[in-house]
Amino acid sequence: MSVNNQLTRAQFDQVMVPNYAPSAVIPVRGEGSRVWDQEGKEYIDFAGGIAVNCLGHCHPALVEALKAQGEKLWHLSNVMTNEPALALATKLVNATFADKVYFANSGAEANEAALKLARRYALEKYGAEKDQIIAFDQAFHGRTFFTVSVGGQAAYSDGFGPKPQSITHLPYNDIAALEAEISDKTCAIMLEPLQGEGGIIDADIEFLKAVRALADKHNALVIFDEVQTGVGRLGKLYAYMRSDVVPDILTTAKSLGGGFPIAAMLTTNEIAEHLKVGTHGSTYGGNPLACAIGNAVLDVVNTPEVLDGVKQREQLFREGLNEINEKYHVFETVRGQGLLLGAVLNEQYKGRAKEFLAASVDEGLMTLVAGANVVRFAPSLVIPEADIAEGLVRFERAVAKVIAG
Ligand SMILES: *Cc1c(COP(=O)(O)O)cnc(C)c1O
Repeated sequence: MSVNNQLTRAQFDQVMVPNYAPSAVIPVRGEGSRVWDQEGKEYIDFAGGIAVNCLGHCHPALVEALKAQGEKLWHLSNVMTNEPALALATKLVNATFADKVYFANSGAEANEAALKLARRYALEKYGAEKDQIIAFDQAFHGRTFFTVSVGGQAAYSDGFGPKPQSITHLPYNDIAALEAEISDKTCAIMLEPLQGEGGIIDADIEFLKAVRALADKHNALVIFDEVQTGVGRLGKLYAYMRSDVVPDILTTAKSLGGGFPIAAMLTTNEIAEHLKVGTHGSTYGGNPLACAIGNAVLDVVNTPEVLDGVKQREQLFREGLNEINEKYHVFETVRGQGLLLGAVLNEQYKGRAKEFLAASVDEGLMTLVAGANVVRFAPSLVIPEADIAEGLVRFERAVAKVIAG
């Protein structure tokens, strides 16, 4: 089998575990919101590596941070702390409700830490009876066994033996269902402030307020999974900042590293105390190389220019998608916020989101789906307006192709 000559998609099936089904295209280079494959074909990137590449590909500030730290110090383990981790934790604390930060390497790991912390906090403060985690249908929280069990799609957690217990799923945005279920045995309510994988479904403000009020009434913690919505995606640094509903624990990953793996769990002093020395940890969590890049990401993203720019770009996407829809009548609605948008297919095209994605790739455009009925867009927060315009032209051609069959 060839390693040095041309590597092909066919090799994937020979040497990789078959849990993914990647497209035939193998990208080899990216710059800003454009990507090129092995054949030199160009793509406009409306996918952003699933809401990860928040500053596009190879942003100069991130390349500089990677190179500078790469020549200084890569890794230590948590036997010693390091300057980039201290700087990034300080930035996150200064920018949010949080007093304390725990670093991890992926969204699932940050959520795993959040769930373990919530259980530990309830156990130590109120006793073993208080262990119920309330989560929501269609929610996505990652693929570790605990997080996938808290997630709201049983298909992802079935088939791996006995699951973690005392997890209840309720309909999202349903205040009455939450009122009926919550009790003093509830230790935490976990939710995405806007469901991403579940279909780009935003939380109603009244629902968020009810989550907070009911949690307070029953001494339960509120965990916001902002792995997808965080770091500017919705036009605020974190989605919780859209309202006055503040969580007790917040998780952030994806865009935090702009393409380099890093995640964090944020919380308050009072709650953080319960992850005492030795209760939890990670070899790589808070590694200097990852944190150096996280610092560079936050320095660029957490500015009025970038955050306000997200709202301007959202307008361009909405206008362009509405124009396409006026011509071709494929969407029921365009939902979501900022640069996390979902074009929901109407009755006629229900279940066919993947066809729109495949046709887009043919036309030189990378998009995403969120379930079978939603075409999802999660581009760079700084995608040039010209790339948005050209990407929408390509998307229109893809839509025309799908309609023509
Ligand atoms: C992607 C995602 C995760 C999982 O993140 P990984 O880095 O893949 O572990 C968790 N929660 C939400 C809301 C996500 O979108």
